Amino acid sequence: MSNIIDGKSVAEQVLAECSEEIAALKNVGITPGLAVVLVGEDPASKVYVGSKVRKCAELGLHSRKIELPVDATQAEVLAVVEELNHDPQIHGILVQSPPPPQIDEEAIVRAIDPAKDVDGFHPTNVAKLALEDGSGFVPCTPAGCMRLLKEAGVETSGAEAVVIGRSMIVGKPMALLLMSKEGNATVTVAHSRTKDLAAVCRRADIIVAAIGRPEFVTADMVKEGAAVIDVGINRVDDATAKRGYRLVGDVAYAEVAPKCSAITPVPGGVGPMTIAMLIANTIKAARQSG
Ligand code: NAD
Repeated sequence: MSNIIDGKSVAEQVLAECSEEIAALKNVGITPGLAVVLVGEDPASKVYVGSKVRKCAELGLHSRKIELPVDATQAEVLAVVEELNHDPQIHGILVQSPPPPQIDEEAIVRAIDPAKDVDGFHPTNVAKLALEDGSGFVPCTPAGCMRLLKEAGVETSGAEAVVIGRSMIVGKPMALLLMSKEGNATVTVAHSRTKDLAAVCRRADIIVAAIGRPEFVTADMVKEGAAVIDVGINRVDDATAKRGYRLVGDVAYAEVAPKCSAITPVPGGVGPMTIAMLIANTIKAARQSG
C-alpha cells in the first residue's frame, strides 16, 4: 500500500519555484547571495558545503565559501561572521556544523544577523517560529519535511503526530511546525527518556524519525496506514558497497514501508529537501532585505 515520497522530485519542484523568484529579484536588481563558512577539514562537512555552493552556482545565486583552518579561534570566526553581516551582497549566512571543539557554536549562531540566519537557528528565529511570525526563517530540514507531507497529500490537520527526537535542528522545530496553525496536528515529542516508545509510536498517524540510529523504528512500532518521514542519515558498514558503507535512515525501511500510506526513502527522501529549503530561505532573506 506504500506510497514512496520522492524527495528528489519535490526538491526539484522547490528549486524550480526558486528559479522563478531569483529571476524576479534579478529584475529589480537583487541577486540573492549565500555565504557558507567552513571551519576545519571534516570530510562530510566539506561535501555538504561543496554541494550548497554548487547549487547556488547552478541557480545563478551569488555565493561565497569561506574556509578557515581547523585551529581557527573563536575571535577569527566571529570576525568573519561580522564581516558577512555587513556585506550587502550576502543575504544568507551559515556556519557549517559541527565546528572544531574550540569553537562555541552557540555563540557563533547568536552573532549572525537574524535577518541573514537562513539556517533558522538564531534565538530570534526560534522565537518567531514559536510565535508563528512568518518573517522568520524555519530550519531547512523540518521545513522540507512539512513540504514533503503536503506534496504527498498527507493530512496533518487533526492527525496524531509523533516526532522522535528533540534536537533544535530537527525534532523541536518539526514539532512546532506540526502543531502550528499550518499543521494543526496533535503532537507528541518522544526522546531518549520516553517510556514505551513503541506504544507511543503506534498511536501515530504521522511519524517523524530524527534520532540518528540506524533502522531504529521497526514495523511493530508503526500503525497500519501511517505516514513516515525518515530524517536519519546513518552510515553502516557494508563490504559489498564500493565505499565500504551504505546510508540508511532511522527507519527499518524494508519492514516498515509495506505498512505505510506514505514513506520517505533514505537516500532520496528528506536529504534533497534540506538544500532546496536553504536556497528558498536565502531568496526569502534577499526579498526581505529590499
Ligand atoms: P541529535 O543527535 O541532535 O538528536 C537525536 C535525538 O534523538 C535526541 O533528541 C534524542 O533524545 C533522541 N534519541 C536518541 N536515542 C533515542 C532513543 N533510544 N529513543 C528515543 N529517542 C532517542 O540528532 P539530529 O541533529 O536531530 O539528527 C537526527 C538524525 O537526522 C541524524 O541521523 C542526522 O544525520 C539526520 N539529519 C538529517 C538531515 C537531512 O538533511 N536529512 C538534517 C539533519 C539531521
